[in-house]
Amino acid sequence: MAANGVQQFGNWIDGEFTDPDSGEWFDSHDPYSGEVWARIARSRSTDVDRAVASAKAAQRDWAARIPTARGKSLVRLAELIEENSERLARTEVRDNGKLYAEMSGQTTYMAEWYRYFGGLADKIEGAVVPSDKPGVLNYTRREPLGVVAMITPWNSPLLLLAWKLPTALAAGNSVVVKPSEFTSASTLELMELVKEAGIPDGVVNVVTGFGDEVGQPLVAHPDIAKVAFTGSDAAGRHIYRAAAGDFKPVSLELGGKSPNIVFEDADLDAAATGIISGIFAATGQTCIAGSRALIQRSVHDEVLERVVDIASSAQIGDPMSSETHVGPVTTPAQYEKILDYLAIAKDDGAHVRLGGGPYTGPGAGGGQFVEPTILTGVTNDMRIAQEEVFGPILSVIPFDDEDDGVAIANDTIYGLAAGVWTEDMGRAIRVSDALRAGTVWVNTYRAVSYLSPFGGYKHSGLGRESGMEAIGEFLQTKSVWLSTEKATGNPFVLR
Ligand code: NAD
Repeated sequence: MAANGVQQFGNWIDGEFTDPDSGEWFDSHDPYSGEVWARIARSRSTDVDRAVASAKAAQRDWAARIPTARGKSLVRLAELIEENSERLARTEVRDNGKLYAEMSGQTTYMAEWYRYFGGLADKIEGAVVPSDKPGVLNYTRREPLGVVAMITPWNSPLLLLAWKLPTALAAGNSVVVKPSEFTSASTLELMELVKEAGIPDGVVNVVTGFGDEVGQPLVAHPDIAKVAFTGSDAAGRHIYRAAAGDFKPVSLELGGKSPNIVFEDADLDAAATGIISGIFAATGQTCIAGSRALIQRSVHDEVLERVVDIASSAQIGDPMSSETHVGPVTTPAQYEKILDYLAIAKDDGAHVRLGGGPYTGPGAGGGQFVEPTILTGVTNDMRIAQEEVFGPILSVIPFDDEDDGVAIANDTIYGLAAGVWTEDMGRAIRVSDALRAGTVWVNTYRAVSYLSPFGGYKHSGLGRESGMEAIGEFLQTKSVWLSTEKATGNPFVLR
Protein backbone atom coordinates (compact mmCIF):
# COMPACT_ATOMS: atom_id res chain seq x y z
CA MET A 1 0.00 0.00 0.00
CA ALA A 2 1.49 3.38 -1.02
CA ALA A 3 0.64 6.76 0.51
CA ASN A 4 -2.99 8.08 0.78
CA GLY A 5 -4.50 4.61 0.66
CA VAL A 6 -3.39 4.26 -2.96
CA GLN A 7 -2.51 0.63 -3.69
CA GLN A 8 0.69 -0.20 -5.54
CA PHE A 9 0.86 -3.17 -7.93
CA GLY A 10 4.16 -4.54 -9.20
CA ASN A 11 4.63 -7.01 -12.03
CA TRP A 12 3.98 -10.68 -11.29
CA ILE A 13 7.02 -12.69 -12.33
CA ASP A 14 7.96 -16.17 -11.21
CA GLY A 15 5.20 -16.31 -8.62
CA GLU A 16 5.79 -13.01 -6.84
CA PHE A 17 5.25 -9.29 -7.14
CA THR A 18 8.30 -7.44 -8.33
CA ASP A 19 9.13 -3.80 -9.01
CA PRO A 20 9.73 -2.69 -12.60
CA ASP A 21 13.37 -2.26 -13.65
CA SER A 22 12.68 1.38 -14.53
CA GLY A 23 11.52 2.14 -10.97
CA GLU A 24 8.66 4.04 -12.64
CA TRP A 25 4.95 3.75 -11.87
CA PHE A 26 1.80 5.22 -13.38
CA ASP A 27 -1.62 6.02 -11.91
CA SER A 28 -4.83 4.08 -12.31
CA HIS A 29 -7.98 6.21 -11.96
CA ASP A 30 -11.44 5.35 -10.74
CA PRO A 31 -13.61 6.47 -13.71
CA TYR A 32 -16.53 7.40 -11.44
CA SER A 33 -14.77 9.46 -8.78
CA GLY A 34 -11.95 10.52 -11.08
CA GLU A 35 -9.52 9.77 -8.22
CA VAL A 36 -6.24 7.89 -8.40
CA TRP A 37 -6.69 4.61 -6.54
CA ALA A 38 -3.72 2.50 -7.66
CA ARG A 39 -0.17 2.79 -8.94
CA ILE A 40 0.91 0.35 -11.60
CA ALA A 41 4.40 -0.73 -12.66
CA ARG A 42 5.61 0.98 -15.83
CA SER A 43 7.52 -1.90 -17.39
CA ARG A 44 9.89 -2.02 -20.33
CA SER A 45 11.55 -4.68 -22.45
CA THR A 46 13.89 -5.87 -19.67
CA ASP A 47 10.88 -6.73 -17.52
CA VAL A 48 9.40 -8.53 -20.52
CA ASP A 49 12.65 -10.50 -20.88
CA ARG A 50 12.46 -11.64 -17.26
CA ALA A 51 8.79 -12.62 -17.51
CA VAL A 52 9.34 -14.58 -20.73
CA ALA A 53 12.41 -16.31 -19.28
CA SER A 54 10.38 -17.31 -16.22
CA ALA A 55 7.57 -18.66 -18.41
CA LYS A 56 10.02 -20.51 -20.62
CA ALA A 57 11.72 -22.17 -17.67
CA ALA A 58 8.38 -23.27 -16.20
CA GLN A 59 6.71 -24.48 -19.38
CA ARG A 60 8.43 -27.84 -19.81
CA ASP A 61 7.46 -29.17 -16.39
CA TRP A 62 3.95 -27.81 -16.72
CA ALA A 63 3.52 -29.55 -20.08
CA ALA A 64 5.03 -32.75 -18.66
CA ARG A 65 2.53 -32.85 -15.77
CA ILE A 66 -0.12 -35.50 -16.01
CA PRO A 67 -2.87 -33.64 -17.85
CA THR A 68 -5.40 -34.60 -15.18
CA ALA A 69 -3.23 -32.77 -12.62
CA ARG A 70 -3.10 -29.69 -14.87
CA GLY A 71 -6.87 -29.85 -15.15
CA LYS A 72 -7.34 -30.19 -11.38
CA SER A 73 -5.38 -26.99 -10.77
CA LEU A 74 -7.62 -25.16 -13.23
CA VAL A 75 -10.75 -26.52 -11.55
CA ARG A 76 -9.34 -25.44 -8.18
CA LEU A 77 -8.72 -22.00 -9.67
CA ALA A 78 -12.36 -21.92 -10.80
CA GLU A 79 -13.45 -22.52 -7.19
CA LEU A 80 -11.14 -19.79 -5.88
CA ILE A 81 -12.46 -17.37 -8.50
CA GLU A 82 -16.02 -18.05 -7.33
CA GLU A 83 -15.02 -17.51 -3.70
CA ASN A 84 -13.35 -14.19 -4.58
CA SER A 85 -15.66 -13.00 -7.35
CA GLU A 86 -17.12 -10.05 -5.43
CA ARG A 87 -13.69 -8.70 -4.54
CA LEU A 88 -12.48 -9.11 -8.13
CA ALA A 89 -15.63 -7.39 -9.43
CA ARG A 90 -15.10 -4.40 -7.15
CA THR A 91 -11.58 -4.02 -8.49
CA GLU A 92 -12.87 -4.19 -12.06
CA VAL A 93 -15.46 -1.47 -11.36
CA ARG A 94 -12.84 0.77 -9.76
CA ASP A 95 -10.70 0.44 -12.85
CA ASN A 96 -13.21 0.47 -15.71
CA GLY A 97 -16.34 2.05 -14.21
CA LYS A 98 -18.70 -0.54 -15.61
CA LEU A 99 -21.73 -1.55 -13.55
CA TYR A 100 -21.02 -3.73 -10.54
CA ALA A 101 -24.05 -5.81 -11.56
CA GLU A 102 -22.39 -6.53 -14.93
CA MET A 103 -18.87 -7.07 -13.59
CA SER A 104 -19.89 -9.32 -10.69
CA GLY A 105 -21.88 -11.40 -13.17
CA GLN A 106 -18.74 -11.71 -15.28
CA THR A 107 -16.33 -12.49 -12.45
CA THR A 108 -18.64 -15.23 -11.19
CA TYR A 109 -19.41 -16.70 -14.61
CA MET A 110 -15.79 -16.66 -15.78
CA ALA A 111 -15.06 -19.53 -13.37
CA GLU A 112 -16.85 -21.77 -15.88
CA TRP A 113 -14.09 -21.23 -18.47
CA TYR A 114 -11.49 -22.45 -15.97
CA ARG A 115 -13.66 -25.44 -15.06
CA TYR A 116 -14.47 -26.30 -18.68
CA PHE A 117 -10.88 -26.18 -19.94
CA GLY A 118 -9.69 -27.84 -16.74
CA GLY A 119 -11.98 -30.69 -17.67
CA LEU A 120 -10.67 -30.70 -21.21
CA ALA A 121 -6.99 -30.88 -20.20
CA ASP A 122 -6.90 -34.70 -20.17
CA LYS A 123 -9.07 -35.11 -23.25
CA ILE A 124 -6.63 -33.69 -25.77
CA GLU A 125 -6.02 -36.66 -28.00
CA GLY A 126 -3.93 -37.40 -31.03
CA ALA A 127 -4.82 -40.16 -33.48
CA VAL A 128 -3.44 -43.31 -34.98
CA VAL A 129 -3.45 -42.49 -38.67
CA PRO A 130 -4.37 -45.24 -41.15
CA SER A 131 -1.22 -46.06 -43.10
CA ASP A 132 -0.89 -46.67 -46.82
CA LYS A 133 2.59 -48.13 -46.29
CA PRO A 134 3.50 -51.56 -44.98
CA GLY A 135 5.50 -51.80 -41.77
CA VAL A 136 4.69 -48.31 -40.51
CA LEU A 137 2.86 -47.00 -37.48
CA ASN A 138 1.88 -43.33 -37.91
CA TYR A 139 0.36 -41.41 -35.03
CA THR A 140 -0.17 -37.77 -34.12
CA ARG A 141 0.55 -35.87 -30.91
CA ARG A 142 -1.08 -32.56 -30.09
CA GLU A 143 1.60 -30.53 -28.35
CA PRO A 144 1.65 -27.14 -26.65
CA LEU A 145 3.15 -24.19 -28.50
CA GLY A 146 5.42 -22.95 -25.66
CA VAL A 147 5.14 -19.47 -24.14
CA VAL A 148 1.99 -17.59 -25.14
CA ALA A 149 1.64 -13.79 -24.89
CA MET A 150 -1.82 -12.53 -23.96
CA ILE A 151 -2.73 -8.89 -24.44
CA THR A 152 -6.09 -7.72 -23.11
CA PRO A 153 -8.23 -4.54 -23.27
CA TRP A 154 -9.90 -2.49 -20.53
CA ASN A 155 -13.54 -3.20 -21.10
CA SER A 156 -13.83 -6.67 -19.48
CA PRO A 157 -10.29 -7.50 -18.35
CA LEU A 158 -10.84 -10.70 -16.39
CA LEU A 159 -13.56 -12.22 -18.56
CA LEU A 160 -11.53 -11.71 -21.71
CA LEU A 161 -8.48 -13.20 -20.01
CA ALA A 162 -10.64 -16.17 -19.00
CA TRP A 163 -11.39 -16.74 -22.68
CA LYS A 164 -7.67 -17.35 -23.24
CA LEU A 165 -5.77 -18.30 -20.09
CA PRO A 166 -7.34 -21.64 -19.08
CA THR A 167 -7.36 -22.77 -22.72
CA ALA A 168 -3.64 -22.15 -23.12
CA LEU A 169 -2.83 -23.68 -19.72
CA ALA A 170 -4.95 -26.80 -20.33
CA ALA A 171 -2.93 -27.35 -23.50
CA GLY A 172 0.36 -27.20 -21.54
CA ASN A 173 1.56 -23.71 -22.47
CA SER A 174 2.94 -21.11 -20.11
CA VAL A 175 1.84 -17.50 -20.34
CA VAL A 176 2.87 -13.85 -20.08
CA VAL A 177 -0.10 -11.48 -19.79
CA LYS A 178 -0.05 -7.78 -20.57
CA PRO A 179 -3.30 -6.25 -19.34
CA SER A 180 -4.56 -2.84 -20.44
CA GLU A 181 -2.74 0.08 -18.85
CA PHE A 182 -6.16 1.33 -17.66
CA THR A 183 -7.22 -1.87 -15.88
CA SER A 184 -4.22 -3.86 -14.68
CA ALA A 185 -5.14 -4.39 -11.03
CA SER A 186 -7.69 -7.19 -11.35
CA THR A 187 -5.36 -9.37 -13.44
CA LEU A 188 -2.64 -8.92 -10.80
CA GLU A 189 -5.09 -9.83 -8.02
CA LEU A 190 -6.01 -12.98 -9.94
CA MET A 191 -2.36 -14.10 -9.82
CA GLU A 192 -2.52 -14.77 -6.09
CA LEU A 193 -5.38 -17.16 -6.80
CA VAL A 194 -3.37 -18.79 -9.61
CA LYS A 195 -0.64 -19.50 -7.06
CA GLU A 196 -3.08 -20.72 -4.42
CA ALA A 197 -4.60 -23.12 -6.97
CA GLY A 198 -1.26 -24.90 -7.21
CA ILE A 199 -0.21 -23.68 -10.65
CA PRO A 200 3.58 -23.54 -10.39
CA ASP A 201 5.46 -20.24 -10.23
CA GLY A 202 6.45 -18.99 -13.65
CA VAL A 203 3.62 -20.70 -15.53
CA VAL A 204 1.62 -17.44 -15.51
CA ASN A 205 3.33 -14.04 -15.40
CA VAL A 206 2.03 -10.49 -15.76
CA VAL A 207 3.89 -7.42 -17.01
CA THR A 208 2.07 -4.11 -16.91
CA GLY A 209 2.50 -0.92 -18.88
CA PHE A 210 1.83 0.63 -22.24
CA GLY A 211 1.35 -0.94 -25.65
CA ASP A 212 4.50 0.50 -27.22
CA GLU A 213 6.72 -0.03 -24.15
CA VAL A 214 5.59 -3.51 -23.10
CA GLY A 215 3.14 -4.89 -25.65
CA GLN A 216 5.46 -4.51 -28.63
CA PRO A 217 8.58 -6.07 -27.06
CA LEU A 218 6.42 -8.89 -25.77
CA VAL A 219 4.96 -9.65 -29.21
CA ALA A 220 8.39 -9.40 -30.85
CA HIS A 221 10.18 -11.52 -28.24
CA PRO A 222 11.82 -14.52 -29.97
CA ASP A 223 10.72 -16.92 -27.21
CA ILE A 224 7.04 -16.06 -27.61
CA ALA A 225 5.38 -18.84 -29.59
CA LYS A 226 1.95 -17.27 -30.06
CA VAL A 227 0.06 -14.06 -29.39
CA ALA A 228 -3.56 -14.06 -28.22
CA PHE A 229 -4.92 -10.52 -28.42
CA THR A 230 -8.19 -8.76 -27.67
CA GLY A 231 -8.45 -5.08 -28.50
CA SER A 232 -8.85 -2.59 -31.31
CA ASP A 233 -8.27 -3.46 -34.95
CA ALA A 234 -5.57 -0.75 -35.12
CA ALA A 235 -3.47 -2.44 -32.40
CA GLY A 236 -4.39 -5.86 -33.79
CA ARG A 237 -2.87 -4.90 -37.15
CA HIS A 238 0.40 -3.81 -35.46
CA ILE A 239 0.53 -7.09 -33.58
CA TYR A 240 -0.21 -9.18 -36.65
CA ARG A 241 2.61 -7.47 -38.54
CA ALA A 242 5.08 -7.79 -35.65
CA ALA A 243 4.24 -11.48 -35.19
CA ALA A 244 4.79 -12.13 -38.90
CA GLY A 245 8.54 -11.57 -38.48
CA ASP A 246 8.90 -14.91 -36.69
CA PHE A 247 5.80 -16.52 -38.29
CA LYS A 248 4.11 -16.58 -34.88
CA PRO A 249 0.49 -17.65 -34.94
CA VAL A 250 -1.90 -15.03 -33.59
CA SER A 251 -5.49 -15.00 -32.53
CA LEU A 252 -7.16 -11.62 -32.72
CA GLU A 253 -10.47 -10.62 -31.11
CA LEU A 254 -11.11 -7.15 -32.51
CA GLY A 255 -13.83 -4.57 -32.86
CA GLY A 256 -17.28 -4.56 -34.38
CA LYS A 257 -20.09 -2.53 -35.90
CA SER A 258 -22.77 -5.06 -35.22
CA PRO A 259 -26.31 -4.72 -36.61
CA ASN A 260 -29.51 -5.47 -34.74
CA ILE A 261 -31.97 -6.22 -37.58
CA VAL A 262 -35.67 -5.86 -36.79
CA PHE A 263 -38.16 -7.31 -39.28
CA GLU A 264 -41.79 -6.24 -39.42
CA ASP A 265 -42.96 -9.66 -38.17
CA ALA A 266 -40.86 -9.45 -34.97
CA ASP A 267 -42.11 -9.19 -31.41
CA LEU A 268 -41.47 -5.47 -31.35
CA ASP A 269 -41.25 -5.13 -27.56
CA ALA A 270 -38.64 -7.86 -27.41
CA ALA A 271 -36.76 -6.26 -30.30
CA ALA A 272 -36.75 -2.84 -28.62
CA THR A 273 -35.39 -4.38 -25.42
CA GLY A 274 -32.75 -6.24 -27.42
CA ILE A 275 -31.65 -3.02 -29.12
CA ILE A 276 -31.31 -1.33 -25.73
CA SER A 277 -29.25 -4.18 -24.27
CA GLY A 278 -27.10 -4.23 -27.41
CA ILE A 279 -25.99 -0.60 -27.19
CA PHE A 280 -26.60 0.91 -23.76
CA ALA A 281 -25.48 -1.98 -21.54
CA ALA A 282 -21.89 -1.38 -20.41
CA THR A 283 -22.27 2.20 -21.74
CA GLY A 284 -21.77 0.76 -25.22
CA GLN A 285 -18.21 -0.18 -24.33
CA THR A 286 -18.39 -3.74 -25.60
CA CYS A 287 -17.02 -5.30 -28.75
CA ILE A 288 -20.43 -6.83 -29.44
CA ALA A 289 -22.30 -3.52 -29.12
CA GLY A 290 -25.28 -3.52 -31.49
CA SER A 291 -24.42 -0.02 -32.62
CA ARG A 292 -26.57 -0.12 -35.78
CA ALA A 293 -30.31 -0.71 -35.40
CA LEU A 294 -31.60 -1.72 -38.85
CA ILE A 295 -35.40 -1.47 -38.71
CA GLN A 296 -37.78 -2.47 -41.50
CA ARG A 297 -39.41 0.70 -42.79
CA SER A 298 -43.02 -0.44 -42.09
CA VAL A 299 -42.31 -0.68 -38.31
CA HIS A 300 -39.48 1.86 -38.11
CA ASP A 301 -41.33 4.63 -36.26
CA GLU A 302 -43.05 2.27 -33.85
CA VAL A 303 -39.82 0.48 -32.84
CA LEU A 304 -37.93 3.76 -32.61
CA GLU A 305 -40.49 5.19 -30.18
CA ARG A 306 -40.26 2.10 -27.96
CA VAL A 307 -36.45 2.27 -27.92
CA VAL A 308 -36.51 6.00 -27.13
CA ASP A 309 -39.00 5.37 -24.31
CA ILE A 310 -36.81 2.77 -22.62
CA ALA A 311 -33.55 4.66 -23.18
CA SER A 312 -34.93 7.91 -21.77
CA SER A 313 -35.77 6.19 -18.50
CA ALA A 314 -32.24 4.74 -18.05
CA GLN A 315 -30.69 5.78 -14.74
CA ILE A 316 -27.26 7.33 -15.18
CA GLY A 317 -24.83 7.33 -12.27
CA ASP A 318 -22.69 5.42 -9.80
CA PRO A 319 -21.72 2.04 -11.29
CA MET A 320 -21.72 0.45 -7.81
CA SER A 321 -25.44 1.22 -7.34
CA SER A 322 -27.92 -1.48 -8.29
CA GLU A 323 -30.26 1.29 -9.50
CA THR A 324 -27.85 2.46 -12.21
CA HIS A 325 -28.25 1.39 -15.83
CA VAL A 326 -25.59 3.49 -17.55
CA GLY A 327 -22.23 4.19 -15.92
CA PRO A 328 -19.32 6.48 -16.80
CA VAL A 329 -17.03 6.21 -19.81
CA THR A 330 -13.86 4.42 -18.75
CA THR A 331 -11.09 6.71 -19.98
CA PRO A 332 -10.76 10.42 -20.84
CA ALA A 333 -9.54 9.49 -24.33
CA GLN A 334 -12.57 7.30 -24.90
CA TYR A 335 -14.86 10.10 -23.69
CA GLU A 336 -13.31 12.55 -26.17
CA LYS A 337 -13.55 9.96 -28.94
CA ILE A 338 -17.28 9.46 -28.36
CA LEU A 339 -17.94 13.21 -28.38
CA ASP A 340 -15.86 13.56 -31.57
CA TYR A 341 -17.99 10.91 -33.26
CA LEU A 342 -21.16 12.71 -32.18
CA ALA A 343 -19.88 15.89 -33.85
CA ILE A 344 -18.93 13.95 -36.99
CA ALA A 345 -22.36 12.30 -37.16
CA LYS A 346 -24.15 15.65 -36.81
CA ASP A 347 -21.93 17.20 -39.52
CA ASP A 348 -22.70 14.28 -41.80
CA GLY A 349 -26.44 14.92 -41.43
CA ALA A 350 -27.57 12.56 -38.65
CA HIS A 351 -30.39 13.85 -36.40
CA VAL A 352 -30.24 13.53 -32.63
CA ARG A 353 -33.46 11.85 -31.47
CA LEU A 354 -32.26 11.37 -27.88
CA GLY A 355 -29.25 12.54 -25.86
CA GLY A 356 -26.44 13.79 -28.05
CA GLY A 357 -23.87 15.12 -25.61
CA PRO A 358 -22.11 14.90 -22.25
CA TYR A 359 -24.18 14.13 -19.16
CA THR A 360 -23.50 16.30 -16.10
CA GLY A 361 -26.78 15.87 -14.21
CA PRO A 362 -27.58 14.09 -10.95
CA GLY A 363 -25.38 11.10 -10.16
CA ALA A 364 -22.53 12.14 -12.45
CA GLY A 365 -20.09 12.33 -9.51
CA GLY A 366 -16.57 13.10 -10.71
CA GLY A 367 -16.96 10.86 -13.77
CA GLN A 368 -17.24 11.48 -17.47
CA PHE A 369 -20.64 10.51 -18.81
CA VAL A 370 -22.17 10.58 -22.26
CA GLU A 371 -25.97 10.60 -22.59
CA PRO A 372 -27.53 7.50 -24.10
CA THR A 373 -27.85 8.78 -27.65
CA ILE A 374 -30.12 7.74 -30.52
CA LEU A 375 -29.37 9.07 -34.00
CA THR A 376 -31.83 8.92 -36.89
CA GLY A 377 -31.38 9.98 -40.49
CA VAL A 378 -28.25 7.83 -40.60
CA THR A 379 -27.22 6.20 -43.86
CA ASN A 380 -24.91 3.22 -43.78
CA ASP A 381 -22.14 5.04 -45.64
CA MET A 382 -21.73 7.64 -42.88
CA ARG A 383 -18.70 7.31 -40.62
CA ILE A 384 -20.98 6.87 -37.59
CA ALA A 385 -22.37 3.72 -39.26
CA GLN A 386 -19.01 2.38 -40.40
CA GLU A 387 -16.53 3.06 -37.59
CA GLU A 388 -16.47 1.59 -34.10
CA VAL A 389 -17.30 4.25 -31.47
CA PHE A 390 -17.31 2.10 -28.32
CA GLY A 391 -19.85 4.25 -26.54
CA PRO A 392 -23.63 4.65 -25.96
CA ILE A 393 -24.44 5.86 -29.49
CA LEU A 394 -27.11 4.07 -31.50
CA SER A 395 -27.49 4.70 -35.24
CA VAL A 396 -30.96 3.86 -36.56
CA ILE A 397 -31.17 2.93 -40.24
CA PRO A 398 -34.36 1.89 -42.07
CA PHE A 399 -34.47 -0.89 -44.69
CA ASP A 400 -37.06 -2.12 -47.19
CA ASP A 401 -36.99 -5.91 -47.39
CA GLU A 402 -34.98 -8.97 -46.37
CA ASP A 403 -32.32 -8.61 -49.09
CA ASP A 404 -31.92 -4.93 -48.35
CA GLY A 405 -31.59 -5.57 -44.60
CA VAL A 406 -28.94 -8.25 -45.09
CA ALA A 407 -27.03 -6.11 -47.60
CA ILE A 408 -26.86 -3.15 -45.19
CA ALA A 409 -25.95 -5.45 -42.28
CA ASN A 410 -23.02 -6.91 -44.23
CA ASP A 411 -21.86 -3.59 -45.64
CA THR A 412 -19.10 -3.03 -43.07
CA ILE A 413 -15.47 -4.09 -42.67
CA TYR A 414 -16.44 -5.78 -39.40
CA GLY A 415 -18.17 -9.09 -38.74
CA LEU A 416 -18.24 -9.80 -35.03
CA ALA A 417 -21.92 -10.27 -34.20
CA ALA A 418 -25.47 -9.59 -35.36
CA GLY A 419 -28.98 -9.71 -33.93
CA VAL A 420 -32.02 -10.81 -35.93
CA TRP A 421 -35.56 -10.14 -34.71
CA THR A 422 -38.30 -12.08 -36.46
CA GLU A 423 -41.07 -14.58 -35.67
CA ASP A 424 -40.59 -16.30 -39.05
CA MET A 425 -38.20 -19.22 -38.49
CA GLY A 426 -37.51 -19.64 -42.21
CA ARG A 427 -36.40 -16.02 -42.34
CA ALA A 428 -34.38 -16.45 -39.14
CA ILE A 429 -32.38 -19.27 -40.72
CA ARG A 430 -32.01 -17.59 -44.15
CA VAL A 431 -30.80 -14.34 -42.64
CA SER A 432 -28.47 -16.06 -40.12
CA ASP A 433 -26.90 -17.98 -43.02
CA ALA A 434 -26.42 -14.82 -45.06
CA LEU A 435 -24.86 -12.69 -42.32
CA ARG A 436 -21.08 -12.41 -42.40
CA ALA A 437 -20.54 -12.46 -38.63
CA GLY A 438 -18.98 -14.86 -36.15
CA THR A 439 -22.03 -14.82 -33.86
CA VAL A 440 -25.69 -14.42 -34.80
CA TRP A 441 -28.36 -14.05 -32.14
CA VAL A 442 -31.99 -14.62 -33.13
CA ASN A 443 -34.54 -12.96 -30.83
CA THR A 444 -31.87 -12.42 -28.18
CA TYR A 445 -28.66 -10.41 -27.86
CA ARG A 446 -25.39 -10.45 -25.85
CA ALA A 447 -25.47 -14.16 -24.98
CA VAL A 448 -22.02 -15.77 -24.65
CA SER A 449 -20.91 -19.06 -23.12
CA TYR A 450 -17.78 -21.06 -22.37
CA LEU A 451 -19.42 -23.80 -24.46
CA SER A 452 -19.80 -21.83 -27.68
CA PRO A 453 -17.08 -20.61 -30.07
CA PHE A 454 -16.69 -16.83 -30.26
CA GLY A 455 -14.73 -14.78 -32.78
CA GLY A 456 -14.94 -12.46 -35.72
CA TYR A 457 -15.25 -12.51 -39.48
CA LYS A 458 -13.41 -9.95 -41.63
CA HIS A 459 -11.74 -7.13 -39.63
CA SER A 460 -13.27 -8.42 -36.40
CA GLY A 461 -10.58 -10.99 -35.97
CA LEU A 462 -8.91 -14.32 -36.46
CA GLY A 463 -9.43 -17.53 -34.52
CA ARG A 464 -12.03 -18.63 -32.01
CA GLU A 465 -12.23 -18.54 -28.22
CA SER A 466 -14.45 -20.74 -26.00
CA GLY A 467 -15.90 -24.13 -26.83
CA MET A 468 -14.07 -27.24 -27.98
CA GLU A 469 -12.41 -25.78 -31.06
CA ALA A 470 -10.63 -23.07 -29.04
CA ILE A 471 -8.13 -25.57 -27.62
CA GLY A 472 -6.74 -26.03 -31.13
CA GLU A 473 -5.57 -22.40 -31.08
CA PHE A 474 -2.98 -23.33 -28.44
CA LEU A 475 -1.75 -26.65 -29.85
CA GLN A 476 0.36 -27.85 -32.75
CA THR A 477 0.22 -31.28 -34.30
CA LYS A 478 3.21 -33.55 -34.66
CA SER A 479 3.07 -36.60 -36.93
CA VAL A 480 5.24 -39.49 -35.71
CA TRP A 481 6.29 -42.29 -38.12
CA LEU A 482 7.52 -45.49 -36.58
CA SER A 483 8.90 -48.23 -38.77
CA THR A 484 8.07 -51.71 -37.56
CA GLU A 485 10.36 -53.29 -40.20
CA LYS A 486 14.01 -52.83 -41.12
CA ALA A 487 14.25 -50.19 -43.88
CA THR A 488 15.38 -51.95 -47.03
CA GLY A 489 13.93 -49.85 -49.86
CA ASN A 490 15.75 -47.54 -52.28
CA PRO A 491 17.10 -44.71 -50.08
CA PHE A 492 17.08 -42.23 -52.99
CA VAL A 493 13.32 -42.10 -53.47
CA LEU A 494 10.44 -40.96 -51.31
CA ARG A 495 9.19 -43.75 -49.15
P1 NAD B 1 -6.48 -1.28 -27.57
O1 NAD B 1 -6.26 -1.99 -28.86
O2 NAD B 1 -6.20 0.16 -27.50
O3 NAD B 1 -5.63 -1.96 -26.42
C1 NAD B 1 -5.74 -3.34 -26.14
C2 NAD B 1 -4.45 -3.83 -25.52
O4 NAD B 1 -3.42 -3.77 -26.52
C3 NAD B 1 -3.95 -2.98 -24.36
O5 NAD B 1 -3.38 -3.84 -23.40
C4 NAD B 1 -2.88 -2.10 -25.01
O6 NAD B 1 -1.90 -1.65 -24.12
C5 NAD B 1 -2.30 -3.08 -26.02
N1 NAD B 1 -1.62 -2.48 -27.17
C6 NAD B 1 -1.95 -1.34 -27.80
N2 NAD B 1 -1.10 -1.14 -28.84
C7 NAD B 1 -0.24 -2.19 -28.87
C8 NAD B 1 0.85 -2.56 -29.71
N3 NAD B 1 1.22 -1.81 -30.74
N4 NAD B 1 1.50 -3.71 -29.45
C9 NAD B 1 1.11 -4.51 -28.42
N5 NAD B 1 0.11 -4.19 -27.58
C10 NAD B 1 -0.58 -3.05 -27.81
O7 NAD B 1 -8.00 -1.61 -27.17
P2 NAD B 1 -8.81 -1.06 -25.93
O8 NAD B 1 -9.15 0.37 -26.18
O9 NAD B 1 -8.15 -1.44 -24.66
O10 NAD B 1 -10.15 -1.96 -26.04
C11 NAD B 1 -11.21 -1.63 -26.85
C12 NAD B 1 -11.15 -2.41 -28.14
O11 NAD B 1 -11.14 -3.82 -27.86
C13 NAD B 1 -12.36 -2.19 -29.01
O12 NAD B 1 -11.96 -2.06 -30.35
C14 NAD B 1 -13.17 -3.47 -28.83
O13 NAD B 1 -14.05 -3.78 -29.89
C15 NAD B 1 -12.10 -4.48 -28.68
N6 NAD B 1 -12.63 -5.67 -28.00
C16 NAD B 1 -12.81 -6.82 -28.73
C17 NAD B 1 -13.36 -7.94 -28.12
C18 NAD B 1 -13.58 -9.22 -28.87
O14 NAD B 1 -13.73 -10.26 -28.22
N7 NAD B 1 -13.62 -9.22 -30.19
C19 NAD B 1 -13.70 -7.90 -26.77
C20 NAD B 1 -13.50 -6.70 -26.07
C21 NAD B 1 -12.95 -5.60 -26.70
